Amino acid sequence: MCGIVGYTGHRQAYPVVLKGLKRLEYRGYDSSGVALLNGDLKVYKKKGKVSELEEAVIGQDLQANTGIGHTRWATHGEPSDRNAHPHQSASGTIAMIHNGIIENYASIKHELQNKGYVFKSDTDTEVLLNFIEDIKRNNNSSLEEALRIALRRIVGAYCILLVDIDEPETIIAARKGSPLVIGIGKGEHFLASDASPIIEYTKEVVYVNDYEIAIIKPDELVLKNLGNEKQTPFIQKLDLELAAIEKGGYEHFMLKEIHEQPDTIYDCLRGRLLHESGSITMSGVDNHLEALTSANRMVLVACGTSWHAALLAEYMFEELCRIPVEVEYASEFRYRNPVINRGDVIIAISQSGETADTLVALENAREKGAFIFGVVNAVGSSIARMSHAGAYSHAGPEIGVASTKAFTGQLAVLAMMALKIGYAKGSLNESRYLQLMKELEAIPEKVREILQDTSNIRAIAEKYKDASDFLYLGRGYNFPIALEGALKLKEISYIHAEGYPAAEMKHGPIALVDETLPVVFVATKDSYYEKIVSNVQEIKARKGIVIAVATEGDSVIPGMADDVMYVPDADEILAPILSVVPLQLLSYYIGIAKGLDVDKPRNLAKSVTVE
Ligand code: GLU
Repeated sequence: MCGIVGYTGHRQAYPVVLKGLKRLEYRGYDSSGVALLNGDLKVYKKKGKVSELEEAVIGQDLQANTGIGHTRWATHGEPSDRNAHPHQSASGTIAMIHNGIIENYASIKHELQNKGYVFKSDTDTEVLLNFIEDIKRNNNSSLEEALRIALRRIVGAYCILLVDIDEPETIIAARKGSPLVIGIGKGEHFLASDASPIIEYTKEVVYVNDYEIAIIKPDELVLKNLGNEKQTPFIQKLDLELAAIEKGGYEHFMLKEIHEQPDTIYDCLRGRLLHESGSITMSGVDNHLEALTSANRMVLVACGTSWHAALLAEYMFEELCRIPVEVEYASEFRYRNPVINRGDVIIAISQSGETADTLVALENAREKGAFIFGVVNAVGSSIARMSHAGAYSHAGPEIGVASTKAFTGQLAVLAMMALKIGYAKGSLNESRYLQLMKELEAIPEKVREILQDTSNIRAIAEKYKDASDFLYLGRGYNFPIALEGALKLKEISYIHAEGYPAAEMKHGPIALVDETLPVVFVATKDSYYEKIVSNVQEIKARKGIVIAVATEGDSVIPGMADDVMYVPDADEILAPILSVVPLQLLSYYIGIAKGLDVDKPRNLAKSVTVE
């Protein structure tokens, strides 16, 4: 959600900033803009794609060695040229970009309006900017000092970058709740919301922490806290190659990421799962085994697709570890004043590790003494850093907005955790433990098998692309997959889709069934199989269309279904990692059959950094 880029150094800033904005496009946005500092300040901004900004600035003076750029995901004020960032202060001498929400902007705006300020946009951002300028002018202070004073009054989340005519070659940055990475080059610095705009220039980065201010010049990086005390920047090496964020011959990132899954799941298991020696090594779990095995309960906190991974983990942990589990939407959990006791383990699941609702939910739980375990994909992200322990899902950068490989990575991590904790606790016996390890080890190859020939799934997508609604049904371990299948279809094809536990269908959704409604059954061979066969029959009896995900070799479900997508046989605890793959592909192919932008669906953002 929203991208921030900055550059100061010996190169021309505009091409670096523009390329950076393109790398961040995957995060989701509706307008973009740049500010260039070169003695004077030039600001160009445009509603729509970065390519539209690029066209709009042809022929303009773009010479500058310092610049900032932004892709906006509107929260305050419609997407428009006027509301796009950078914003310029009333005097025109300061430009600012902002990711996040200033919650108390209305009262500050009112104060400033009483002083005669007139606002050119509807954004909370412009309010903060003029507030900073007002303090700077009244106190006759530096921009840095004015910023510090302003931020002490701000309620909300922000990552901001500022450039000021009075401070040549300088970018001042601050963050709370929204991510910021600084890349360190030779005589140059790069700033961005994540590392993807930076890796082609340098691998040395500093992740800025909440409540820190960074003063950045070509040869200097100074970090301070809001109390004006210098902080030592913690320089890390990026473990990321440029190829990982490019399309590598695929038509879309989403398709590339679906096809990467055999490798990403393998990478997630690699070095951790050692079936031969019967061991699973996960340092985050090993170092806190006592807290995890003796947990009174586990609360799994997540949003969106990660919430579906949490739901599946509930089934795994309860069955294998015999620990009571609750699954919570982070946005509800944080505001509900939940009961949290010592001895509770909170497991936060997030692809980006920056999900605003999840972050705040964790802060609250941490204050109440809960042990926090993060299951995160983005290395070095905020959730990873604020957890007591954690495990990365190692799926690599996920650019397509709809999550695919990050989801299967999360499932692989959660399965390993459940196996390890269950075995250590004694609730999972050795033979079942070893059997499940072996099954998990075989999953990457089975995913590869599914991906070998996807023409059947593509044909099914073509056949049903014009349906206006879909129903997705599953039972047990396949119920969360039904929800995920429905979510994927909504995100990518804009077709209304709902997921339900298959048995629940009789309590309402069956009223929707007629000869126009495709019903997708996740009907692999498991302990619920006989029951789901009956549910398929109930749909067929009402002339519904049945598309089934079935186990290879099954003859019953294919005999009843209109169309079938096959997956290899697997233990029911792990089968969801397979059954989700055809559903990802079905959404992808329906999306492209409808001519939609599957990598950047409308209104969606990749990393939801506002609540
Ligand atoms: N709240 C700001 C706006 O609406 C920033 C939104 C963003 O994060 O892109 O302009």
